[in-house]
Amino acid sequence: MTKELPNQAYFADGWQTTGKTFSVAHPGDGRAVGEVADCGPAEARRAIEAALEAFEGWRRTNPYARAEILERWNDLLLAHEAELGRLMSLEMGKPITESRGEVKYSASFVKWYAQEAVRLHGERVLSRFDHKRGLVSYEPVGVVYAVTPWNFPTGMITRKAAPALAAGCVIVIKPAEQSPMSALYLARLWEEAGGPKGTLQVLPTSDPVAFSRPFFDDERVRKVTFTGSTEVGRVLYAQAAKTLKRVSLELGGHAPFLVFEDADLDKAARDVVLSKFRNAGQTCICTNRVFVQESVLEPFTEAFAAATAALRLGDPLLPETQVGPVVDAQGLAKVREHVEDALAKGAKAVVGGKVRGGLYFEPTVLSGVRPGMKIMTEETFGPVAPVIPFTAEEEALRLANDTPYGLAAYAWTNNLARAWRVAEGLHYGIVGINDPIPTAMAPQAPFGGMKNSGVGREGGWWGLEEYLEAKFISMGLQ
Ligand code: NAD
Repeated sequence: MTKELPNQAYFADGWQTTGKTFSVAHPGDGRAVGEVADCGPAEARRAIEAALEAFEGWRRTNPYARAEILERWNDLLLAHEAELGRLMSLEMGKPITESRGEVKYSASFVKWYAQEAVRLHGERVLSRFDHKRGLVSYEPVGVVYAVTPWNFPTGMITRKAAPALAAGCVIVIKPAEQSPMSALYLARLWEEAGGPKGTLQVLPTSDPVAFSRPFFDDERVRKVTFTGSTEVGRVLYAQAAKTLKRVSLELGGHAPFLVFEDADLDKAARDVVLSKFRNAGQTCICTNRVFVQESVLEPFTEAFAAATAALRLGDPLLPETQVGPVVDAQGLAKVREHVEDALAKGAKAVVGGKVRGGLYFEPTVLSGVRPGMKIMTEETFGPVAPVIPFTAEEEALRLANDTPYGLAAYAWTNNLARAWRVAEGLHYGIVGINDPIPTAMAPQAPFGGMKNSGVGREGGWWGLEEYLEAKFISMGLQ
């Protein structure tokens, strides 16, 4: 059953129009997918007041009742996998098989945190004095403002909303301009699951700066959670400082993929394709730099290029498509700029390297890449992999860590001692050893970055803690 999505936003008092709309286009061919309400500062202020009111009820709702609603939300998400997956592919061009996978991924956080909601039982703290008792009770932080990106339109929402709601917080979500419809779809399902009014609101806007200001100015909004670029994350971090809000930031990455001579080269070549070209390379943890030990450079590059050339680039709505278009003209311009810069400075396209009409860019492998090229210092966010040789392990680690980012890193080796050394030597929040899709892409593990890749973690207990205040209660016995 497909849910009708009106040209509205989802407020505490239901589905509302704002008098203004903006349209969403399909990256595959530019056709209009739909219109959504365009919210401004007035709507933001209304949402804050409604959230504050809803918080009073939700924080007192029995955790078992909160868990039941989250369980129903999970069931509905899974029941709507086909429709929601298709909507995502239409909005932002992700291949349909990946979009459907993302719906399951999104639901897995809801399920996990439904179960965690009833385990927030606090802790005993001992005292050195016989007549004292102490305990820690966990309380919700309060009203949360969430700003989310387009590259995982539903996953980046439930990874925030599920722990927030489980903790007893309420949340106002501002989805990315490119993917507001799947966010609204999530709100529809939350409503159907019995989520009380005002606990989760979704307000699209075409002007994120003006819309966001009331949230940052209002000290009653106690938490900001953001996933997006490092550039914007830095701005929001500074804005949140004014009222000392709690802040979680999931930002950009520049993942290295190290291939040592003792690795299974065919497996490494297949795995780097998975890590690099998922979502057309528009994934924060996807490989951005492939470092290969010189002794195996040739056979590895050959196998990598062959696997890349075999990828099916095409219509994201077709089940056989493996790589779709990039999200918009700005995204494509950045990919082209990185490739042209590298080629002009002496790199060679072993495979791909060109635009294939519209927003489609060929899956590309570049050889002869050197430090100083843009692709070595900036996140490309597209289907392009530079291959760089190294001679020794220390050099590989130095090159891999030579970036302000610290989100995900990968290494392929069959030497156990080296695997440990490398895992410990990589300055990254997530390390995959012979594993292109780390378990960090699961609700039970911590997901997040070091350095310019962010502040805080999502997933597991770590992701729940971000929405909790630990209150210490000390009592003296008479
Ligand atoms: P972006 O930073 O341009 O936009 C993200 C969101 O911020 C959007 O909703 C946008 O409307 C909003 N925004 C932009 N400027 C704003 C402002 N001044 N005030 C308030 N809101 C503002 O990023 P993007 O292009 O949508 O997403 C891609 C980036 O996200 C990449 O850098 C990627 O690595 C990163 N990302 C990180 C993770 C992670 O978990 N670390 C996950 C997914 C994406």
